[in-house]
Amino acid sequence: MTQLIGHFINGKSLIDEKARRGPVFNPATGEMSAEVTLGDTSVVDAAVDAAREAFLSWGTTSLSQRTRILFAYRELLDKNVADIARLISSQHGKTLPDATGEVRRGLEVVEFACGISQVQKSQYSHGVSRDVDTFSIRQPLGVVAGITPFNFPAMVPMWMFPIAIATGNTFILKPSEKDPSASLALAELFLEAGLPEGVLNVVQGDKEVVDAILDHRGVRAVSFVGSTPVASYIYSRAAANGKRVQALGGAKNHMVVLPDADLDAAADAAVSAAYGSAGERCMAISVLVAVGDIADDLIAKILSRVEDLRVGSGLDEGVDMGPLVSREHRDKVASYLAGAKGEGAEVVLDGRDHPLAGSPGFYLGPSLVDGVKDSMKVYRDEIFGPVLSVCRLPDSDAALRMVNANPYANGAAIFTRSGAAAHRFQSELDAGMIGINVPIPVPVAYYSFGGNKHSLFGDTHVHGEEGVKFYTRGKVITQRWADERLPGVDFGFPQT
Ligand code: NAD
Repeated sequence: MTQLIGHFINGKSLIDEKARRGPVFNPATGEMSAEVTLGDTSVVDAAVDAAREAFLSWGTTSLSQRTRILFAYRELLDKNVADIARLISSQHGKTLPDATGEVRRGLEVVEFACGISQVQKSQYSHGVSRDVDTFSIRQPLGVVAGITPFNFPAMVPMWMFPIAIATGNTFILKPSEKDPSASLALAELFLEAGLPEGVLNVVQGDKEVVDAILDHRGVRAVSFVGSTPVASYIYSRAAANGKRVQALGGAKNHMVVLPDADLDAAADAAVSAAYGSAGERCMAISVLVAVGDIADDLIAKILSRVEDLRVGSGLDEGVDMGPLVSREHRDKVASYLAGAKGEGAEVVLDGRDHPLAGSPGFYLGPSLVDGVKDSMKVYRDEIFGPVLSVCRLPDSDAALRMVNANPYANGAAIFTRSGAAAHRFQSELDAGMIGINVPIPVPVAYYSFGGNKHSLFGDTHVHGEEGVKFYTRGKVITQRWADERLPGVDFGFPQT
């Protein structure tokens, strides 16, 4: 019998046999491995009720008690990294080392959240006026929600809920219906670590359950990570309903290589950043901008490295690149290769020719397209697969203009040996995260992650201090205690 994956509400697994269902595949074999129950308004109502009830005590639980539970959670997660990674790999398709890395990056956010008592300290000004002190506090919002994409089924949820919960909120997570199991494992372990029931809930589903979250009056804030059209929709609908929203969207990340760069290091970086996780990373490099006359050399170096890449099941040892997440997505990515040829680009390496591309698993080999222009669809769209476009530009000015004209602005990288050039790019590139000789500049947990323009709707990035700010509301208190030396009634605006 097919396994049915359910919700996790108020500390208990909830499976509704009669609900709509979605298929969950093993991308390496192309077989359906399970089904996920797709929730509706009643499921969201139940989750919000549980989270509201839990907030009554969790919101006032002491910082030391919250921290103790977070430390216990950190230990449990650490012991279970391998199991969670295997779960991710079997539903997403990424390799085990990649899945392990994702859980570890999420774990770093839990570690950051363990220090919440330090991060959430307030300000106090003594004597702002005669015998008057002013201080600020930050309080939790209440019930908050996170809606997450398929490509990081553990790390992206962990960008959100550890900080939301550490700051005293209760949380409803809606993971991707394509790989829903990792989120359940994360929630169950938190309960085992001592988190009270109802503080972290998981509801499974698609648009129906998302809309119910966006419209529910009991949900105070929504964090979203996913594609740009959905991010824009989430932002508008949740904001119109009076919620605080941060909605991170898609990306088209450029790696600019200047003529003075170390081309071997740049080629190594381009291969891992373009083809790692089969290009299904929001920080993957999808456009290589070769400045000056280095393109032929750089492409030759990249191709010689790609020859050695092993494509196969993410669960097998020694595999560098797994399959894509679904058959539809693989076919869509492949369609860009045909389209690029039609628009006059040169498909130097065609992933459709890979021996595994015809197998039942959702495979596509690494691809490289040369002579790409900014007018082409292969450049304009986020492809989200193992396709690297190469644009040849004459100088740094043209490279800067191209990157900054792109509507996405998640990450961008510059490869050079010149400090002055790096400094110019770091200042003038319009992207939320810049790498200097680093292709995927994902910030560590104590900094914040996020882009600009079509890569972020809202203005707060996730985790780090901005994450703490997003999940808390500020309050400023001005106090004066009775003192017989003070004057009585005073209609003036206090100035001394
Ligand atoms: P997606 O937008 O299709 O789905 C994301 C979430 O939204 C899922 O939980 C899904 O169930 C829900 N959803 C999908 N369509 C919806 C609709 N019409 N109405 C309401 N909810 C809907 O994204 P995906 O394919 O799961 O993930 C890949 C995308 O996520 C890529 O575009 C990638 O760049 C982006 N991403 C961005 C970041 C970032 O930090 N900016 C990080 C990871 C992924």
